[in-house]
Amino acid sequence: MLGVLIITILIPTVIVKTFNFVPKENVASGESFETEKGAIPQIIASKKPVARTELAEKIRIFNPYNDKVEEMDLELYVKGVVAAEMPAEFHIEALKSQAVAARTYAVSRSQRYPDGHPDHKGAPICRGIHCQAYLSLDELREIHGESWVEKYWGKIEEAVDSTRGMLIYYNDLVAEPLYHSTSGGLTEDAVNVFANDTPYLKSVSSPYEEGSPKFKTLTTLTDVDFVNKINEKYPKAKINVENFFDKIKLIEKTDSGRIKKIAIGNEIIDGRDIRELFGLNSTNFTIAYDQQLKIIDITTFGYGHGVGMSQWGANGMAKNGSSYLEILNHYYTDVEIKK
Ligand SMILES: [Zn+2]
Repeated sequence: MLGVLIITILIPTVIVKTFNFVPKENVASGESFETEKGAIPQIIASKKPVARTELAEKIRIFNPYNDKVEEMDLELYVKGVVAAEMPAEFHIEALKSQAVAARTYAVSRSQRYPDGHPDHKGAPICRGIHCQAYLSLDELREIHGESWVEKYWGKIEEAVDSTRGMLIYYNDLVAEPLYHSTSGGLTEDAVNVFANDTPYLKSVSSPYEEGSPKFKTLTTLTDVDFVNKINEKYPKAKINVENFFDKIKLIEKTDSGRIKKIAIGNEIIDGRDIRELFGLNSTNFTIAYDQQLKIIDITTFGYGHGVGMSQWGANGMAKNGSSYLEILNHYYTDVEIKK
């Protein structure tokens, strides 16, 4: 609200450039993308292909905090992922959708890397941000306190137990269901982030995210700081405080409106690199310049790569009456959810 108001008031002196695009988050081989939650998990499993009826019930997890691999029960592991990846205050149907996505991600990783992921040999999945977060019950107790455990652990168990064994399939293959915090209104097509086209990870609307603290974020800096940061990282840009705003041009957006490439001076820069340079929550951003105040406002929508299920969107859908199956079928295109 405030941001809109300011822009309106300052209109005569403010130039607003709106770009968006999705960056290719380095996904060379489709494994871990971003350093944030919701990347992709992996699972367990023996070397032979895992048939639907004989899914591994144990999973090997690499712990990057002590360099150890532990084996644990898959369903117990999923409880720890749900607790670590989604606020327990969320609607039970949102927690169920998270449980199915987390379980499926783990199983898909186990199938893909039965002998261990190249980044953590010995386990197909890790409990760091590289794959998907996990917290044991003891760790949850330490972090949140006993009253949290009493209030929420039963709810998390219910979300996982009531969807036990349920997985997301596309064409009878276990899907790799990415998820993220907040899309900003539209999710992103995986091809724009990871460079590989994934038929069930297409851009869809995400209409109920208003509750997310990351729905809209304002980053403010002076024009001098902006220009210095760009020139430091991109010496060929050669911009200065007098001319820089005319030298910013949108080159390409993704269909969901995220910034893919922008030109700044003599440089063409990926939206994801701008995201990294200014520490933005996503590549869905606009830049406004107040020439009187000499202030740059970067308004960012959403948080994360934007691919797959939006966790805040899932909670919004659940609060508006959707079941976890409806949520999953909304965010993952043409999939089947079954045991
Ligand atoms: Zn990992």
